[in-house]
Amino acid sequence: MAKKTIANVDVAGKKVLIRVDFNVPLDENGNITDDRRIRMALPTIESVLERGGQVVLMSHLGRPKNEPDAKYSLKPAAVRLGELLPNAKVDFATDTVGADAEAKVAALTDGNVVVLENLRFQAGEKKGDADFAAKLASFADVYVNDAFGTCHRTDASMVAVPEAMAGKPRVCGFLVEKEIKYLTDAISAPQRPFVAILGGAKVSDKIMVIKNLLGICDKVLIGGAMAYTFSLAQGGKVGSSLVEPDKVELANELLASGGDKLVLPIDTHCGDAFSSDCNKEIVAAGEISDGFEGLDIGPKTAEMYANLVKDAKTVVWNGPMGVCEMPPFDAGTKAVAEAIAASDSISIIGGGDSAAAIQKLGFADKVSHVSTGGGASLAMLEGQKFAAVELLDEA
Ligand code: AMP
Repeated sequence: MAKKTIANVDVAGKKVLIRVDFNVPLDENGNITDDRRIRMALPTIESVLERGGQVVLMSHLGRPKNEPDAKYSLKPAAVRLGELLPNAKVDFATDTVGADAEAKVAALTDGNVVVLENLRFQAGEKKGDADFAAKLASFADVYVNDAFGTCHRTDASMVAVPEAMAGKPRVCGFLVEKEIKYLTDAISAPQRPFVAILGGAKVSDKIMVIKNLLGICDKVLIGGAMAYTFSLAQGGKVGSSLVEPDKVELANELLASGGDKLVLPIDTHCGDAFSSDCNKEIVAAGEISDGFEGLDIGPKTAEMYANLVKDAKTVVWNGPMGVCEMPPFDAGTKAVAEAIAASDSISIIGGGDSAAAIQKLGFADKVSHVSTGGGASLAMLEGQKFAAVELLDEA
């Protein structure tokens, strides 16, 4: 069932506690190097401010050790938010639930914002502590979850805080709404053919995704180093490719259960060292020479995958086809990205490397959805239910 969103809540004069994902990258001087995560939260924040609400923002940033650490302060994020919201006053509380936070939340007026200091400066956040959650819950009349990247977690701000606010509106923000729409709705009733492309380093990271998508998709195309574990399972020669010998049995099970739904590379671009300027050769899958390792899908595979994408009505992509950071072994990943961008399918790009590849190639506006959460999007593709989303109000 669909979840209620912030658009359905009367927020005028109310304090709205929004869990955002302001986990932005910072350089050593504390400057934000990419403010995308802040900008992604703007539609939800602006919607509340424009309707006369008061916004209290909470987020984590990095991995501080459960205590204040200036390196991980959310202050730069609050400053940047202030620049992005010229009509609002954006205040920053120097603690999360302490005297400063309490005073600044109490003094908040309609159309303005206070950003609380990093949730992970408090041990209660990772522990899901009820007292810590109750304090945060006491700050507001409405709870909003707009932190998709953290939705697969059960941190206090994701679960215990909305639990402590039972009886008050608890809804999703626009970012989480969009992620759910694509990662669950589009997948549970997909337009067909439905093609998934899964790559990356390890089969072990993607087993549950492969299993789940084999049950839903028409084709699951495999790329990246994990293809070589499948090749090994088929008795192929993999040279010194990155493989997981302990996952060969599992690869065999997936091959048997997947049948012709599971599509493996037919050729491989190999190198005799893990570097751009190594000696290279393109060989048929399963015929990698000794001393060489597979570093990308080969051109025939790239063409085959591009053709399968061209005919698809729904495409899900997670994980690069090769060592995408190291040209020329980025060619397979680029070919897949180009094919997805050129298709008029509903296209959903998982977070992490595939999302970065789509952004880098300038195709982000040519796909239906680029997920903001790597781990969270994978968990959704595995078919997991998230406590942080389940407990939100139904529409
Ligand atoms: P993941 O985090 O599992 O999505 O994996 C992404 C990483 O897998 C990237 O850093 C790629 O460089 C790496 N990768 C993909 N294909 C290969 C390969 N054939 N050999 C080694 N690393 C690979």
